[in-house]
Amino acid sequence: MSIPTSHRRLVGLVAVLGLAAPSIPTLSMAQAVSYTKVAKQAPLLQPWSGPHGGVPAFDQVKVADFKPALEAAMAENLAEINAIAANKQSPTFENTIVALERSGRALDRVQAVYGVWSSTLNDAAFSGVQTEMAPKMAAFGDQITQNTALFKRIEAVYTSPEMKKLTPEQQRLVEVDYKQFVRAGARLDAPAKARLSQINQQLAGLFTKFSQNVLADEADSVLVLKTEQDLSGLPTSLRDAAKAAADTRKLAAAGVITNTRSSIDPFLTYSDQRPLREKAWRLFTNRGDNGGAHDNNALITQILQLRAERAKLLGYPTHAHLRLDNTMAKTPEAAMQLMEQVWKPAVARVHEEVADMQALAKKEGAPASFKIEPWDYRYYAEKVRKARYDLDQNEVKQYLQLDKMREGMFWVAGELFNFNFVPVTDVPVYHPDVRVWQVNDKTTGKQVGLWYFDPYARPGKKSGAWMNAYRKQERLDGQPVTTIVSNNSNFVKGKEGEPVLISWTDATTLFHEFGHALHGLSSNVTYPTLSGTSVVRDYVEFPSQLLENWLSTPEVLSRFALHYQTGKPIPQALVDRISKASTFNEGFETTEFLASALIDMKLHLAGDQKIDPDTFERETLASLGMPSELVMRHRTPQFNHVFSSDGYSAGYYSYLWSVVLAADAFSAFTEAGGPYDKDMAARLRQNVFTVGNTVDPAAGYRAFRGRDPKIDALMKQRGFPMTATKAGAPAPAKKPVGKAQPAKTTKRK
Ligand SMILES: [Zn+2]
Repeated sequence: MSIPTSHRRLVGLVAVLGLAAPSIPTLSMAQAVSYTKVAKQAPLLQPWSGPHGGVPAFDQVKVADFKPALEAAMAENLAEINAIAANKQSPTFENTIVALERSGRALDRVQAVYGVWSSTLNDAAFSGVQTEMAPKMAAFGDQITQNTALFKRIEAVYTSPEMKKLTPEQQRLVEVDYKQFVRAGARLDAPAKARLSQINQQLAGLFTKFSQNVLADEADSVLVLKTEQDLSGLPTSLRDAAKAAADTRKLAAAGVITNTRSSIDPFLTYSDQRPLREKAWRLFTNRGDNGGAHDNNALITQILQLRAERAKLLGYPTHAHLRLDNTMAKTPEAAMQLMEQVWKPAVARVHEEVADMQALAKKEGAPASFKIEPWDYRYYAEKVRKARYDLDQNEVKQYLQLDKMREGMFWVAGELFNFNFVPVTDVPVYHPDVRVWQVNDKTTGKQVGLWYFDPYARPGKKSGAWMNAYRKQERLDGQPVTTIVSNNSNFVKGKEGEPVLISWTDATTLFHEFGHALHGLSSNVTYPTLSGTSVVRDYVEFPSQLLENWLSTPEVLSRFALHYQTGKPIPQALVDRISKASTFNEGFETTEFLASALIDMKLHLAGDQKIDPDTFERETLASLGMPSELVMRHRTPQFNHVFSSDGYSAGYYSYLWSVVLAADAFSAFTEAGGPYDKDMAARLRQNVFTVGNTVDPAAGYRAFRGRDPKIDALMKQRGFPMTATKAGAPAPAKKPVGKAQPAKTTKRK
């Protein structure tokens, strides 16, 4: 559901991962020069060559090359930065800001490939490299943002009379750079800078360890289904996948359920073996929380304390205030207000859902003492869905073939974005499962980019789904550079040669990630820093969540939701039932999400007190009135969004913030000519998808919608009543809290 934090090169580096860090010696100029000489020949450092404006040479990557290539690329970048900082001419937009945009090209390339290995091919050899390199990369990022001479030049441009003569996009770039440096500590004195850098390196180490621990718990522990009886209730596709997983592990068992969401959730939905459901649920919700070598609790305490200290150093009351400074919401209070507005109706709905499930269980002969437990929720919800809406997710699934759904997304992209997708085989891939498409403008035939698709789960690939940009769209030097983006998911690969059937939820996720891809592919800006998805955190999920809405349009379903055996389109009666059930189980969905989002925010509002994550989670949920029948979507010890980088820390709320915009934006289509209204699509492209971070997101949204967003469409979409309080938009707070912040908005996701 996320997009990685790899974007902005300078400070983006700070967010990259690593292990416990002693202080790292920084690069000297002499080293820099020698690295540059030595490593020029390494394949990872070469400019990308071949068709489509050059592509990553994934077929030439050796894990052992990452370290020397990263070091050489950092050295080269440092030499470039030092040259900019030491320029004798007075600072100008061209010789400072644009020069910065031009720097670090080799590092961008190495990091793009490094990111692919980190998220999808993370074996023992690679994780060793990652552990070593993460703190070094964090230190390197600080070396740039703490370069006083460089910051003085950026500041000089920011405050110069030249600023007013620049184009709006150029002005925004200057502002983005300036504020980024300030937020990274450029104004601090030398001792504070040194401490900040120490903190960043320590954090980088802790982040790496955190995500490696989660990955280890996912890989090491599986649920072994010993007998046929253990498979009871499971649909054929799940049985096949479980058998295949057992074969892969060379286990003489009836099946294996791997410890990832894409396997566990369906098992919890269908297995009628309650003790096994409990086992599966515990396996999954205890990731990172099992004591021993892979336990994350102590790491979390350290991460929170370091973040609190860093926020104070930078002049913010808490990490939440620091992080929210650079968002649409602007303050933790504004984000909390939105979450609290939705929390109560969501919890009230959970109680209704539980009552329905209890009643059904009783009807089926459960004893009077029977109580829905968290491992029962999905199972009984599915039964209620069937009973009330005559809707069987397995029936729906037979119409959702992965390949057809992908074609459906392409079709939507053709209608709304005028894109055409053509499969290509002339580029190297890093795994045989990966396929690549060339994306062209339908009218001009011009290539706008490449789309890589890596659909299946495998060992070493992190769970979930995400989008990534290997290369950003830009035209810094006049010549258009087309983007290269990828979508990644963890579908369970079925039997050889048979279509992969996916759930409605999975199909929604597919459209979601494709929305991020379209955001990247639509980008039409000059400067790479402002390109594509490089927008603020709580805006970046808006285009992706918006696109989810097109899955359920009749145009997509009638053409692409085709039965995997008969090829017949999904019957209208079934579509009607899907539509009637659209708000079903929203209590569960919204509450499990909000519980995570609230815990994230409260952890980061707690300041520098020493937090025991287990106690904090338990007590906070109790005080919120969290229903006992379900659990946070991501419990604290496995909350990768928040603890595997600074990425979504104090930022998990962003999905809710963005979905308010998404629901409101989709209602603009339905109020006009419908989901495929050409004028509305044009407005959306012009004001949202093409502009990257060249405009203030609130202004961009207003230009598209003709007004500020309102929460009404979201509440309606989820079937929640509007609360008595004035249900406004997620209105940005008037004044940012903290002192290092300047007023307006800014950048970086
Ligand atoms: Zn997303």
